[in-house]
Formats: sequence, structure tokens, C-alpha cells
Amino acid sequence: MKAAILEAPATDLLVDRVDIQEPRSGEVLVRLAASGVCHSDLHVVHGTQTTPLPAVLGHEGAGVVEAVGPNVTSVKVGDHVVLSWTPNCGQCAYCQSGHPNLCQVVYAKMGTGLLMDGTSRLSRSGKPLYHYSFISSFAEYCVVPESGCVVIEPGIPLDKAALVGCAVMTGVGAAINTARVQPGSVAAVIGAGGVGLNAIQGSRLAGAASIIAIDVNPAKLARALVFGATHVINAAEVDAIAAVRELTKGMGADYTFEAVGRPETMRQCWEMARPGGTVVMIGIAPAGSELSLPANRVVREERHLLGSFYGSARPHIDMPMILNLYMAGKLLLDELVTHRFSLEQINEAVHSLESGEAIRPVIVLDNR
Ligand SMILES: [Zn+2]
Ligand SMILES: [Zn+2]
Repeated sequence: MKAAILEAPATDLLVDRVDIQEPRSGEVLVRLAASGVCHSDLHVVHGTQTTPLPAVLGHEGAGVVEAVGPNVTSVKVGDHVVLSWTPNCGQCAYCQSGHPNLCQVVYAKMGTGLLMDGTSRLSRSGKPLYHYSFISSFAEYCVVPESGCVVIEPGIPLDKAALVGCAVMTGVGAAINTARVQPGSVAAVIGAGGVGLNAIQGSRLAGAASIIAIDVNPAKLARALVFGATHVINAAEVDAIAAVRELTKGMGADYTFEAVGRPETMRQCWEMARPGGTVVMIGIAPAGSELSLPANRVVREERHLLGSFYGSARPHIDMPMILNLYMAGKLLLDELVTHRFSLEQINEAVHSLESGEAIRPVIVLDNR
């Protein structure tokens, strides 16, 4: 098959022939229809997050089941699937208590670049290649754990469904699952990219009365209005914390979300919430960075500081729910796909996200 390989940080991806093995026990071979390009892929390309290389990147994919390995019971050949990058063991305390996104069995293996049995199904010219986040969707096919396959209705366009595999689940889930935004509340979202727009539409779906979008890119702020923002703040022009307080009678927002992944904006996010409000951190900050907060006010002002990993997802419940909302016309997916590329154009796709020109570049992998 063809796949895009990252050999070293800060280099272009290389599209080449790659060998993929048959799925083993508990694994599924998926013919990919489409893959989004996400900032987490960019972090690896830039070297600010590490994963074993050379690897096939991509972790926001959807496609059709081509083959199943032994002992696979929940999916069958021909099923349409969205791929989850948090497969789960189903047995640990987190899985058993409804938090499969925190499955510690999977978490321990997430950074290894290998599948659950500690081996790879990918190679080039006889030399092994690493997987990425159990998916590797910059490719025509992928072998993934069965528990990472979420079966969806066959009528749903797979190029849109792919985005539910990362950005949409992460943003919508942060609002609905992690923050549990209440009707009539005020939400503020820092960062109006793929994830932030989905925190905005998740807040809209949960019934927030006011949703304030904060970014430094006017084009992104204009798009935020389409997804449900009621106010926008250009943080390049004004003091964003003061602007949020001004819009909330000096109080601060009931819910604030950080979808950038920088300690400075995380601190701003905390300051924008009202005392007793809920602060949700979504963006992945560079490894080793630290967040500083005023220790005295952390206690006195009782903000609830929550991390949100993959939108606190229960992928097999939440992804079909999100797609039901899309099919009912209540959740926007088409508007996220601003650019389309072939696999050969993968580096152009990466640059379109880097420059902020694209909300979500989608790699179309199968036109059949
Ligand atoms: Zn992602
Ligand atoms: Zn588990």
C-alpha cells in the first residue's frame, strides 16, 4: 500500500510503498476512506512531541473493515468504522467505571508506536515502521485494535466521520462530558481551530446562552460565529481576560476552555473563569512545560480545574451520538473540512494546517 512516513522530526513526510501484515488476534484491517490532519501530527513533525520514528502518522481516520483477525467479535468485514485512538482493555478499573479514555493498559502502550502485543504490522523494504497512536491513518490501510473501531451507520459520509475520531470528539466531549455545560450559562473558548470550534459547538448543543470565542486570527473568529459563538475577542488587539470580564459584568465565564496547549493561554483560561467556575484544559502543552497559578486564589476562588483527554470520551457511545446530531443537522462537520488533499499532497496538507489557513485539511484516501 501507499503511506506517508515521517523519518525524522522537522523533515517532510515521504509517500512510499509500505508493507502491511494481516491483522492478528483482536485486530482489524481497515481500508481507509479519509484522514484528517491534526495538530498532534504537527507536534510530532515539529519534534515538540515525540513518538518512535520512522512512523506512519495520522490518527483521525474512518474507513471500511477489510478483514478481521482471530477472536474479533464486535466488527465484521464491510462495517463502516470511525477509528478511536484510545482503544481500551475493557477490564481495568477505568474501563469498568465508564472512563475508557483513561484505560491504563492502553495508556502504558500509547507512546510505544506499537500495537497492543508490542509489535508492528508495518514495514518498508523489510525494515519495521512504527504505528502512531494505534492508528496510522496517513495510509491506504491500517491495522488497529478491535476496541479502537467504532461501527457507524453506512450512510454517513466517511470523510466527515473521520473528524469525529479526534477533533470533534475532543472538543464536543470537553463541553458535554468533561465540563457538563449547563443551559443558560456563559462559556469562553481560547483557540478557534478544529478542537476549539468543537468546544464552541458542544457548548451550543448543551444550551450555553453566551459563547465567547478568543483567537488571534480574524478568519478563525469569523468561523467561530458559524459554529455558535455569540461574541468574539481578538487577543492580538485587546486584553482577552479584561474583555471576557467586561462581557460578563466583571464576573468571568461559567466555563472556560483552552484549546491551544500553551501554559500562557492556560493561565488566561483560568483567569477568565468566574470564581466557582469550571476551567477545562484541552490543548496538549509541550512535554516538560509547567502551568503556574496563584496559590492563594486557587483556594479562595474555588475554580474547578479539569483536564479533558479525548473529550472524556466513551468512544462507542459518544461517537455515534455525535454522528446522530450531524445527521439531524444539529452538529456541523461539513464546515470543518476546509481543504482536501490526496495522500501525495500530504506535505501541502500539513502546511495548510501550520499556516492557520485550514481548519481541517482532509486526506482523501479512497474515492471508490
Ligand atoms: Zn488529534
Ligand atoms: Zn482498561
